[in-house]
Amino acid sequence: MDRIQEKLGRLPEQVVVDGGFTSREAILDMGRRGVDFIGAIADTTARAASQFARRGVEAAFRPEAFAYHPESDTYTCPAGKVLHYERKHRDIGVTDYYYRASAADCGNCEFRKNCCHANTNAGRSVVRAEEALAVAAFRVKMATDEAKQIYRQRGPVAEFPNAWIKTKIGLRQFRLRGLAKVTMETLWACLTYNIQQWIRLRWRALSVSGTR
Ligand code: SF4
Repeated sequence: MDRIQEKLGRLPEQVVVDGGFTSREAILDMGRRGVDFIGAIADTTARAASQFARRGVEAAFRPEAFAYHPESDTYTCPAGKVLHYERKHRDIGVTDYYYRASAADCGNCEFRKNCCHANTNAGRSVVRAEEALAVAAFRVKMATDEAKQIYRQRGPVAEFPNAWIKTKIGLRQFRLRGLAKVTMETLWACLTYNIQQWIRLRWRALSVSGTR
């Protein structure tokens, strides 16, 4: 964004990026810059589920089975035991609040092997994540049809040149070494692509207008 502003004298009104660039940090930064940010924030649900499965936590004892009580800032586990607030950890765009059951409750629990069999000296813990308002608003926006429609345009615009350069020019790896030389290879490939696109679009425009 800094380089765009430097080269063009202003920031874009809207930026569309793939999942690799859609972080909470980027969402906050774009908000500060006043740029409408469209992206695909990673859904960590599947990864979290597989981590719990690896740790032997059965589905009925995953975090969603623990009830949160805002008035007392506590959780209740599936066995009815209370998890008290323990600590918090701030990260960019999110604060994680940790809650833990007592070691005695879990140690005597009939569900311990289904819930937290790896905890030998401590009770089960759960984490409640509270995202920054801008991040929460971004999730709401990206659930709308309008934002999804904008995001769908990214692939043809941003990925086609990569595919074309790889397939048509065969630039799957650099033939030379050193930053200056690979920059030159890349520039030639991009220039070739741009000229090819210019000819194609120009030809199409002339064909449509009948002034070939
Ligand atoms: S092991 Fe602990 S947290 Fe899990 S159900 Fe039993 S008492 Fe609750």
